[in-house]
Amino acid sequence: MKIAMINCLKANEVCTGAGCLKAFNGRTKHFEQYAGTDLELVAMARCNGCEAGIDEGFKEKLDRIVSIGTEVCHVGVCTVRKDLGKECPVITEALEYLQERGIKIVRGTH
Ligand code: SF4
Repeated sequence: MKIAMINCLKANEVCTGAGCLKAFNGRTKHFEQYAGTDLELVAMARCNGCEAGIDEGFKEKLDRIVSIGTEVCHVGVCTVRKDLGKECPVITEALEYLQERGIKIVRGTH
């Protein structure tokens, strides 16, 4: 099964992706549901930042995630905006775009 992950660009300042990859590789946390399943991590994408929103570059990344046959896209908790108390609207829009193209969305990685 082909899995992609999307995270917040701001998280790059402190994030190595190690937590997501540890959970993915060990089939723990939000990847526990795939125990015994053959998984392929096909993309680890970030948004292009708050100012960019869904710009051409981000759209290109989303289209790439679709074109490579991604079946499920996991979304990091870093995409929840503390100031809003909910998921970043840019990410919500991006996930809707993927969902409309047949990709299942799972909120959470580790
Ligand atoms: S647009 Fe949202 S997900 Fe992207 S950097 Fe800004 S707060 Fe993070």
